[in-house]
Amino acid sequence: MAVQRFDLSDRETETWDFLCECGDERCERWITLTLAQYEALRERDEPILAAGHTVGLAALAPRKAHALARDGG
Ligand SMILES: [Zn+2]
Repeated sequence: MAVQRFDLSDRETETWDFLCECGDERCERWITLTLAQYEALRERDEPILAAGHTVGLAALAPRKAHALARDGG
């Protein structure tokens, strides 16, 4: 019996390269993720970041940056 499961195996093993989403214009780090890893991040609404990179304040939602600024002042 032949079972075709291209879709399943592709999702588990196929990797894509994504540009780091830290928001730094000079950042050119690429991150290799499997589609499954990518979708897991997207489901949690998390950015794709290279190791050690964080999303800068400018890239955050305005409301959140505002709250942080108020706490600091
Ligand atoms: Zn980065």
